[in-house]
Amino acid sequence: MNSKLMKPIFLFSALISYISVHAVEYKSYSTVLKNGMKVIVCEKPDVHFTEFEVWYKTGSKDEVPGIRGMAHMFEHMMFRGTKKFPGNSIFDNVDKYGGSCNAYTDYDRTVYHEYVPEDALETVFDMESDRMANLVISQEILDTERQVVGEEFRNGVNNWYQKLDLERSKLLYPTGHPYEVSVIGYLEEITQFTSKQCQDFYDKYYSPNNAYLVIVGNVKSQAMFDLAEKYFGKVTKQLDLKVRTDVPDIISNKLKAPELNLDYPIPVQVFSYILPQPSAGSTEYYAFHMFKNLLFVGENSILQSRLVKKDHQAYAIQLASEDESMYSNYCIMDIIMQAFPGNARVKKVIREEIDRIATDGVSQDLMNQFITSTEATEMMNSYSPETIAQQLGIAEYYLHDYNKAYSEVDELKKITVADLKNVATKYFSTERIQVLNVKPM
Ligand SMILES: [Zn+2]
Repeated sequence: MNSKLMKPIFLFSALISYISVHAVEYKSYSTVLKNGMKVIVCEKPDVHFTEFEVWYKTGSKDEVPGIRGMAHMFEHMMFRGTKKFPGNSIFDNVDKYGGSCNAYTDYDRTVYHEYVPEDALETVFDMESDRMANLVISQEILDTERQVVGEEFRNGVNNWYQKLDLERSKLLYPTGHPYEVSVIGYLEEITQFTSKQCQDFYDKYYSPNNAYLVIVGNVKSQAMFDLAEKYFGKVTKQLDLKVRTDVPDIISNKLKAPELNLDYPIPVQVFSYILPQPSAGSTEYYAFHMFKNLLFVGENSILQSRLVKKDHQAYAIQLASEDESMYSNYCIMDIIMQAFPGNARVKKVIREEIDRIATDGVSQDLMNQFITSTEATEMMNSYSPETIAQQLGIAEYYLHDYNKAYSEVDELKKITVADLKNVATKYFSTERIQVLNVKPM
């Protein structure tokens, strides 16, 4: 059971590929139950197992001081049973069919998933709808699960890069911002959670109108809609959902400190490039995404080629933020270098390359390479039920339409050199970018 803190490090984007491919698109259908829960089904006839996901639109964004880490803690509680499915029933039932199940928590979402053969599906509908409505929460269960979460926390901070993520959050956001604390939360608060606080979180954020289903497999959509109606249709709980409109501005926000001294034993220094990014699906979103990748992220990006491969001034450049978020958020790129007095030069190189694009733009050829590599990634993501479900779920949440799951390439093709110059000037200006110097103690 994961929190975002557990994400893999040094996961580079796909290699540039020169073949032109198109994502295989399987047909997807949706319906909305009377209780407000949307059901999205992708019919993929060539597989034996079905991916079943419940996306709750809650995560650490909904936490307040005193319950930092609750969304993730609560994800664990969801596996501890109901009256009908007590104890480890969820795992046992999925195991019985040779399937698997898990969950993860992020800032904006908590996603529960089962990967099962078709004959297990009705049981999965039964279990997921039951724990949406009838979870048993007790102090005893909380105390046991807290140990597991505490262990995850300690493992997390033993990894210097995860520790960096946790400590950096404290310097980044203005007070009251939904992302001001890392998903894993604060151990000193986790150890104080009460079962009443857990119950409150469940009552406030778990309901059919704050969730949607994504099902991908060798299934018929109508049969899935019928099962959804049969099991989830009887969950009547309704929440008065409000999107926050009081989120503090991050554009003019300044880092709380220019340096972060991190207590880790390896001689590495990091420059974190931090800048506000456009919201998912907005006009500048795709141009920003392309610019950031062309310059920083891809294995063949301009800065990886120059700083990592050619000049050996950096070990790696790592994207440390999510592309999509519900509220205003930062894009973070980490330049990971040997701790060395001459590192200030790296900043000069980066500024030079940004300014060069702002003035001269980039070649159409480079843009085409990026589009081709994105097409290859889309194609890879359209093979397995799990990755398709992930794409559909993300598009539904952040682009408000699961049909846009495979629209990225089309959007990228519309981008012009002028769009990239505009993004370079507007978003990657010296006023917008802040650089946090992360040093070993
Ligand atoms: Zn966990």
